[in-house]
Amino acid sequence: MSHVELTELVKEFDDVTAVDGISLDIPDESFTVLVGPSGCGKTTTLRLIAGLERATDGDIHIGEDVVNDRRAYERDIAMVFQNYALYPHKTVRGNMRFGLEQHSTPEDVITDRVQEAAELLQIEDLLDRRPAELSGGQQQRVALGRAIVRDPAVFLMDEPLSNLDAKLRVKMRAELNKLHDELSTTTVYVTHDQVEAMTLADQIAVMDDGQIQQVGEPTHVYMNPRNMFVAGFLGSPSMNFLEGTLEESSTGKFLLELGGDTHDVPDEFIDPLTPYLDDRVVLGIRPENIALNKDGVPANVHPATVNVVEPQGEKTILELSLDTGQNIKAAVDPDTVVERGDSVNLRFDRDSLQYFDPETGESLT
Ligand code: ATP
Repeated sequence: MSHVELTELVKEFDDVTAVDGISLDIPDESFTVLVGPSGCGKTTTLRLIAGLERATDGDIHIGEDVVNDRRAYERDIAMVFQNYALYPHKTVRGNMRFGLEQHSTPEDVITDRVQEAAELLQIEDLLDRRPAELSGGQQQRVALGRAIVRDPAVFLMDEPLSNLDAKLRVKMRAELNKLHDELSTTTVYVTHDQVEAMTLADQIAVMDDGQIQQVGEPTHVYMNPRNMFVAGFLGSPSMNFLEGTLEESSTGKFLLELGGDTHDVPDEFIDPLTPYLDDRVVLGIRPENIALNKDGVPANVHPATVNVVEPQGEKTILELSLDTGQNIKAAVDPDTVVERGDSVNLRFDRDSLQYFDPETGESLT
């Protein structure tokens, strides 16, 4: 058993509360990603699990054991750092052997494990080189290799891909996925990159300000964000938020008055939104759920003007101003014929609407 459990975990540094009462269950064999903006406490959480920081309060379980009082080397974890932290004077082989030698592992086991990991990571040809003679991607593989040979209960990874260029990052992401499929070692992975989080995780924990905002399967969290922070953090470009006043029409329909434009609320939201009648409500709509209607003025569309057209290959991002004055982004097919200055009608996919309380940011749906 190598699940990890954090219970009401707190870490204070003088007057900064870096981790503010986190509870999180990291299942055995899961790939759990802690994601959030800079300074939200991800690294500190990982360092607490690693034993590199001491918790101010709360408990850390690895398997069945509370490990709060155990030193890092007694915790059966292996950590991969952003800067690789390889020993510059040792060869690749020496770097990979080192942790095992420290634990007095028998020589034949060391040789076998280094060989197996080198094969797995395709770095057999590099074993006699020193880190300075390797590319960034190769150094990252060695850092992974050093963790793999330890065969730990848990891998802890702190932004391990962030020093690689964009192309290599995508490649290594796929390799990490494959590696996890093969080894099934429980992994806790920290990143501020939401794309990395979405593609790697089978469980994602979105953090902000020392707290976990939402935990779950990545697509579920993406589709059902608990609040505006999570909704805005996951997705690129971010979800659009439009604030208006909720009104009821003479026919009993709910309408969101957006200051000169009206959004027709689907009937299925009448129940959860009823307490907000005559009050402010935020409508959330993701750029990819906005379609563009250049001609004609069918019902329930929002007139806008195109300000920026940004082709990104598989999609084109449009920055637009609604006639209400609010800015909004849409992600449309790359073959859409549109240019700056065009007047268009935006249609919001009615299956993809979200509504939020503007005061608390909580989802109302
Ligand atoms: P990043 O993505 O920038 O690495 P993070 O989410 O990993 O950020 P942490 O490094 O965990 O965030 O930091 C959380 C908060 O704790 C920040 O306000 C940071 O300044 C503070 N902090 C972290 N380590 C220390 C320390 N050793 N002493 C004092 N404050 C610290």
